[in-house]
Amino acid sequence: MSGTLRLGIDIGGTKTAAALVADDGRVHVIRSAPSGRGPDGVVDVAVRLALGVCGETTAPVLSTGACMPGLVDPATGLVRHAVNLEVDRLALGAELEARLGTAVAVENDVKAAALGAWRLRGAGGSGSFDETMAYLNLGTGLASAVVRRGELVRGIDGVAGEIGHLPIGGDAACACGQLGCLETVASGSALARLWPESRRVHRDPFVAAAAGDLSAAAAVDVLCTGIGLAVQLLALASGAERVVMGGGLAGLGAPLVSGVRADLSRRALSSPLVGALDLPARVELLPADVPVAALGAAWLGKGRRHDARPAGVGADPMGMVG
Ligand SMILES: [Zn+2]
Repeated sequence: MSGTLRLGIDIGGTKTAAALVADDGRVHVIRSAPSGRGPDGVVDVAVRLALGVCGETTAPVLSTGACMPGLVDPATGLVRHAVNLEVDRLALGAELEARLGTAVAVENDVKAAALGAWRLRGAGGSGSFDETMAYLNLGTGLASAVVRRGELVRGIDGVAGEIGHLPIGGDAACACGQLGCLETVASGSALARLWPESRRVHRDPFVAAAAGDLSAAAAVDVLCTGIGLAVQLLALASGAERVVMGGGLAGLGAPLVSGVRADLSRRALSSPLVGALDLPARVELLPADVPVAALGAAWLGKGRRHDARPAGVGADPMGMVG
């Protein structure tokens, strides 16, 4: 395979991936490894993987982008407070540029994933490059990002989209220090608390619930209700036409989409206003195996809106579930 390739590096809380990506969304090569810890460890793993994938192609690599959790300033390349990676402060852009010998664009991981999802939808024909799309990341935590006509909404310090830390009630302690955050009912960590490992026979809570596990049934009910609330919040606050769900919980697949849509339908029953939003039709799930953050990171180097529409768009490279 030859042609235009871009390098995307996704530094996640547990795993780092480097991918060479074509502008139509096809992944030429991707390699991953457990993420390093601390500033040096994080950069070392990212550089090793990046050099490895670049060594697997003779095609020119036109641009490089990287993403990671935390407060990321795309202008300076500085990352702060990536707690899970034991990084308090890291000049990620400068470090990667020095080690890789090329310009590197950086972004927060959820925002990069949103960009990747937006571009995949547009390139694949299921969405439009002109639409406003909200991305809901259902990982260990809960976060979101909005892409408006190809531009990420960042807000001061990149904090736009941190809806997981909106207190909605309840007394579950959140990692942020508040009680009853949305994240405590709509995330992987919420599921782990509501349905502890020690009680599990099946790995999948929907399978367990169908098999009569009342604890799993209660947990997925809370989870779907919490995610439904997050979808409604995003639609009302951002006006996004589509809300795309991704992250680790996306692996739960069709039952998760059905559960969230059922919750959204229940909300519509009691309110003509909510009913008019037609939320069940506006929510969809990314396939769990699409490396959407690495794709988004790769496209950071492409970046600007006027450059966001690919020259030759082929068939849908990645179908959407739902
Ligand atoms: Zn919180």
